[in-house]
Amino acid sequence: MSKLTHPEVHMVHRIGWLRAAVLGANDGLVSTASLVVGVAAAGSGRPEILIAGLAGLVAGAMSMAAGEYVSVSSQTDAEQADIARETRELKEMPAAELDELTGIYVARGLDDGLARQVAIQLTETDALGAHARDELGISETVTAHPIQAALVSAATFAVGAVIPLIIAALVPVAQITLVVAITTLVALSVLGGLGASVGGAGVVKGAVRVTFWGALAMAATAAVGMIFGVNVG
Ligand SMILES: [Zn+2]
Repeated sequence: MSKLTHPEVHMVHRIGWLRAAVLGANDGLVSTASLVVGVAAAGSGRPEILIAGLAGLVAGAMSMAAGEYVSVSSQTDAEQADIARETRELKEMPAAELDELTGIYVARGLDDGLARQVAIQLTETDALGAHARDELGISETVTAHPIQAALVSAATFAVGAVIPLIIAALVPVAQITLVVAITTLVALSVLGGLGASVGGAGVVKGAVRVTFWGALAMAATAAVGMIFGVNVG
C-alpha cells in the first residue's frame, strides 16, 4: 500500500484555530479596554483602574475557558455516543452496515462494483474508522480536545486583554481614557482585518465592523463611568 511521501498540512485545519484565536483576542481587548475606560472615566486612580482591569482579564479568561470547555466537551460527548452506537450496530448488523457504507461511496460517485469493493476492503481494515469518517464525519484530525480548546481560548483572551492594561500602567492617569481608546481601536482594526482575511472575507469591511462595535462598547462604558464618577465623586 503506497504511503504519502510527505505529510500535507492543509490551511483548513489552521484556519479554525486562527479564527478562534482572533475572536478570543478581540473579546479580551474590547471587554478589558471598556472596563479600563469606564473606571478611568469615573475619575479613579491608577491602582483602582489596574485592579479593575486585571480582575476583568482573569474573570473574562476564566469564563471563556469554562464556556469553551463545556461546549467542546458536549461536542465530544455527542461524538463518543455516536461512536458507541456505531460500534454496536457494526456488531449487531454487519451486513446492513456494509450496504450503508457501499451506499455512501456510490453517492460519492463510485460505481456499484467499485463501491462495494472499497467498502469491503475498508471494513476489513478498520470498519469503525471507515464508518466514523465517512458516515459520521468524525476523524481524529478534526476532533476537538476540551482542555486544549479551553486553554487556547483563555490565553487568546488574556493576550487581547493585556494590551489596555499595559497602556493603563504606562501613560499619565489623565490620558488613560484617550490613549487606551485609541490604541484599542487600532488593535481592533488590525485584528478585525486579520480575522476577515483568514475567513476569506473583505479586510476593510472586517476591520470597520470590529472597530465600530469596539468603539460603541468603550463609549458606553465611558458614559457609565462619567455618570457614576460625577454622582460618587
Ligand atoms: Zn454505519
